[in-house]
Order: sequence, then C-alpha cells, then structure tokens
Amino acid sequence: MALADLTDPNAVRRAIAEFDERGRDAFLDEYGFHPARDYFVVVDGKRYDSKAIAGVAHLYERGALLTAGEFSGGDSTVATRLEKLGFEVTRPASLPDWSIDELMLALDLYLRTRGVVSYSPTVKVVTDLSSELRSLRIFSDNVRANPRFRNPSGVALKLHNFSSIDPEHAGRGMGHGGAGDRRVWEDWAHRAEELAQAVALIRARGETDEAPEDTGEEEEYEAPEGRILFREHRRYERDRKLVAKKKAAVHKKTGRLACEVCDFESSEAYGVEGVIDVHHVVPLHKIGESVTTMADLALVCPTCHRVMHKHRPIISPAQLRAQRFGA
Ligand SMILES: [Zn+2]
Ligand SMILES: [Zn+2]
Repeated sequence: MALADLTDPNAVRRAIAEFDERGRDAFLDEYGFHPARDYFVVVDGKRYDSKAIAGVAHLYERGALLTAGEFSGGDSTVATRLEKLGFEVTRPASLPDWSIDELMLALDLYLRTRGVVSYSPTVKVVTDLSSELRSLRIFSDNVRANPRFRNPSGVALKLHNFSSIDPEHAGRGMGHGGAGDRRVWEDWAHRAEELAQAVALIRARGETDEAPEDTGEEEEYEAPEGRILFREHRRYERDRKLVAKKKAAVHKKTGRLACEVCDFESSEAYGVEGVIDVHHVVPLHKIGESVTTMADLALVCPTCHRVMHKHRPIISPAQLRAQRFGA
C-alpha cells in the first residue's frame, strides 16, 4: 500500500467531491490529516489539501485509506503524483532574502531590546515586527501573501543572528548570520540614533509607497539604506521640475553644467549638452525632514554619481572630490 498505487484520476475526483460535501474541517478530521500549508490541489479555483486528497483517493481506488503517517515521501512527492494524474498542485513560493530595509528594522529592534527580551516567536515585539514586515511595501503583494513570509519564527531567528554577531554577546552566539546581516550590522550598529531615524522613515514611506515594480535596478537597491529610502532619493533626482530648476540655476551662475566632483562638462568634452545627473545630497536617513531646496541638489557626472552611491553610507560630492584631488 503506497502512494504509487494511486493511479486513477477518478478516485482523486471522488475524494474532492467528498471534501466538498463534508467541508474542509470535517473532511480532515474524519481522516486524520493536518491542514496543508503550501500544497493544495486546485480545481475550478478551489483549493484542497493535497495529502488528505491523495490519502482518501487511495481509499477509493484501493479500498484502504493511506493515512497521514503512511506517506513515505514528503508533500512534494504527493504533489508530483497528483500532477502525473493531471491535477494542478500549488507549491510554496520561495521567500526572498531579507532586504536591507527589513534588516534595518530588525537591527533597530535588536539594539533597543538586547539583553532585555528573549527572542522567541511568541514574544510580542517579535510578532509585532513580523506583522509590520508583512505589511511594508518592500516586496510585491504576491510575495507578502505567502504565510511563511517574515513569520514570527523567521523574525526571531534573525534577531538571534544579530545577537550572534554582537561582540557584546560574544561566546553566547555561534557567529551565524548571512552576509547581509553582517553588512547591516557594520553599517548601522554603531550609529543607533541615525538608524532609528532611518527606520522611522522606512516605516512612514513603506506604508504609503506603492507596491514595487521591477525596474531592473536591483544593483542600485544595494544602497546601504535599503530600497525604500533609495526609492525616495531617486524620486527627488527624477523630479523633472527640480532637475530643470537646478540645471538652470547652475547654468545662470557659472555658464556651464559641470560635475561638482571632477569638473567634467559634456558639451566641452563631446559637444553634447547636458549629460549630467542631479544628486540629492541629503543623507538618506534624513530624507523627508524638510522640503528640498536647490542647495540639497548637486550636479555630478554619471560616473561620479555612481561612485558616490557605491559608498556606505553614500558620500557627498565634497567628500568624493577630497578623495580624488585631496582636500
Ligand atoms: Zn544620487
Ligand atoms: Zn564627475
């Protein structure tokens, strides 16, 4: 008696009909199956717990129930079997790695609660952060709909990772944690106040921002301040009115549109006018504190702009100029 003996799609259909007739809870109860989390047979848009359906279908085809304990393979083996019989089965979507923004929120919580709270999945600060991460618009609605996405266990684990990186807890942890965890630790752990500021902004923007679309800018999302604040930074730099105003002001004053770092001027170099970026110089964690003025914007050539953004945290045109030409 095994899953492989299930070969008749009609037996599966009969199990599904019985499920419909009894209702989910009664059906699972009757045959002793736990509710499925990820694997469901989908028929006419309705979802059926795949293991229970396979077990009961086995009863219809072979005269004996395949009980929950009698499945040799896991959920995905059941899914494969049902797919072979022509059914559609959902599989768990893979979860994205933690974004910088999310790690910043977790680190902020960690720094405020370390040594005071033990991070278990049932502790309130953990469940609170979990529901907050599930609501922030860092990832698409689709990703966030996955019940396992940033669930309390995942959040608790992340907080433990930070405690294992934390030198103040050295010896207690195992030094686990991914590259992203370490990076955010290095970038922010020593400036908790700025982190708190950035986190407040991420919260405010992450609730109101539109769900992200794929802009093909993954590489630039590597900004140490994360996606949400980087998006905000870009919003200023792409504001056509602001950009035109800045360029006009600089041109009026200097007669050129030169890079504030390296003095590159595209019309002088190539006879092509206006190949220049506008960079928003306000530190990302302070974005939104005040209305942007012309002084908050700098003209930089695309190369210098990129290089500034490669620094953690982003450096100013003056800092990059000092780096290149000396102070
Ligand atoms: Zn910029
Ligand atoms: Zn330049």
